[in-house]
Amino acid sequence: MSVLQQADIGAKYLEASEEDLFARIAARKEEFGEDLLILCHHYQQEAVFRFADCTGDSLKLARNAAESTARYIVFCGVHFMAESADILTSDQQQVLLPDLRAGCPMADMASVEEVEGAWAELAEATGNAQVVPVTYVNSSARIKAFVGEKGGSVCTSSNAERVLTWALAAGEKVFFFPDEHLGRNSAHALGIAEDQVVLWQRDQPLGGNTAEQLQRAKVILWDGYCTVHLQFQAEHVQQWRAKDPEIRIIVHPECSREVVGIADDYGSTEAIIKAVTASPPGSHWAVGTEINLVNRLRLQHPDKEIHSLSPFQCLCSTMYRIKPAYLLWILDNLAVGKMDNQITVDAGTAELAKRSLDRMLEI
Ligand code: SF4
Repeated sequence: MSVLQQADIGAKYLEASEEDLFARIAARKEEFGEDLLILCHHYQQEAVFRFADCTGDSLKLARNAAESTARYIVFCGVHFMAESADILTSDQQQVLLPDLRAGCPMADMASVEEVEGAWAELAEATGNAQVVPVTYVNSSARIKAFVGEKGGSVCTSSNAERVLTWALAAGEKVFFFPDEHLGRNSAHALGIAEDQVVLWQRDQPLGGNTAEQLQRAKVILWDGYCTVHLQFQAEHVQQWRAKDPEIRIIVHPECSREVVGIADDYGSTEAIIKAVTASPPGSHWAVGTEINLVNRLRLQHPDKEIHSLSPFQCLCSTMYRIKPAYLLWILDNLAVGKMDNQITVDAGTAELAKRSLDRMLEI
């Protein structure tokens, strides 16, 4: 997370009507023209999403940023995504995050200091075993740099199985962070035996394992998680099936193994969108991912029945911090040459982090 503090944007923005905010954002977009690129993650609320030049998951948006020549890239997502965009864009481009409080709690569950400490303990317990680090894209630039330096790779929820396969061919073990569940689901899909997958608990010596368990393990999982996706439970799947025999259940791989194991299908946000879009009219879906995406799918496919898998609002509260008022505030400041909320990754970290991102793209 950034150590920068989010400024108070004042009543002028916070108390403005939605109609007024929309008109002023649209006018600023017009004024900046091709100098401005607004990127929006699928989990953004509709009031912000409507202003997107590009939409997607974190990987697609990072690619959009890399391909863009816009001077200003306003990232409506969370902090680690804006960092990836800064790493992949030129020094002449500036990446801005409308609200600095938009971090990802899961990414914050693995600090580089904790990972370095665990890495040293693991090296001692496993002797000379070759361990390849793999980090989910939901991680800080410093973690990506650590992985780049140690010869590992970034992965996303769409390519985690492929990256894990590569890593196990490149070394004897994989240290996977920060999401336990994406790692566990990917290891399971590759047929890795359960007793060869162990959990590294941050507050325990050797992560709560014996040296023998670590020596036998093929995959060591950091104990991070996404609070949004862990809200989906096996009983929700059973309830939907009892209520609607035609329902198809699709979930994100950040959900628990139990939920992914009994769902009809699972995949990244892009894969979920594709599956629902490609299904015939009249299809029934219960979707286990963030509610803004589920609501948007429902609006886009009125010929299908689309529900959230959970009866509760599974909302990414940090993505939700990007509101139209903050988007307008950033654009107004830019218009008078004020570069608020710029996300920058120092050159040394960026160079190493880019290695781990480039390795993923090669794989
Ligand atoms: S949905 Fe979960 S993993 Fe994604 S940004 Fe929000 S907290 Fe992070």
